[in-house]
Amino acid sequence: MRLLVVEDEPRLAAQLREALAASGFSVDAAHDGEEARLLGATEPYDAVVLDLGLPRQDGLAVLRHWRGRGVRVPVLILTARSDWHSKVEGLNAGADDYLGKPFVMEELVARVRALIRRSQGFAAPQISCGPITLDPTAATVSVDGRPVALTAQEFRTLSYLMHRQGRIVSQRELGEHIYDLDDEHESNTIEVFIGRIRRKLGVDAIRTVRGLGYRLQAPQ
Ligand code: CA
Repeated sequence: MRLLVVEDEPRLAAQLREALAASGFSVDAAHDGEEARLLGATEPYDAVVLDLGLPRQDGLAVLRHWRGRGVRVPVLILTARSDWHSKVEGLNAGADDYLGKPFVMEELVARVRALIRRSQGFAAPQISCGPITLDPTAATVSVDGRPVALTAQEFRTLSYLMHRQGRIVSQRELGEHIYDLDDEHESNTIEVFIGRIRRKLGVDAIRTVRGLGYRLQAPQ
């Protein structure tokens, strides 16, 4: 899963990026409203953390721009703790959740996970597909209760497929959701990840749909 973090205060931006990366997300950062507006409208993020007080263009205007263009990405806004007015304005402009500053990083990470889960139509915190269970909070995967050790990239890849189980996901789409803008990668690395994940899972759940991509479904 890939996130956009929009925060102009450098220390907080770095803390956010670090905490979210440590939680298994791939993270792009924008430091002003214009950069955010462009990235959010062109890159396929799975969720956005958006500070409202930004240089060049404020967060509310950025959010309204995205929603006006049909960008449906889940957005969590950051507001001043006591500023109920901008929370209401943010929700009315299309935000999905808000958090007042200062906040506890664990709460932010939990809220982002919940936003992504709900946006993909899952209510329970754990996601299952046949014998495979993925726990986004603990970043663990098991098959029939047996733990499976995955690298961060493999976990991100499987997590994206689990959230979209039953649907065909192209290599390009997968790449867009597991790498951030700074990642360099070879075009065949996704095939390599998929091969490794298949071997580690030991069940036939990731199908190759020739010419189109991959589909995760419960093994027969
Ligand atoms: Ca700010």
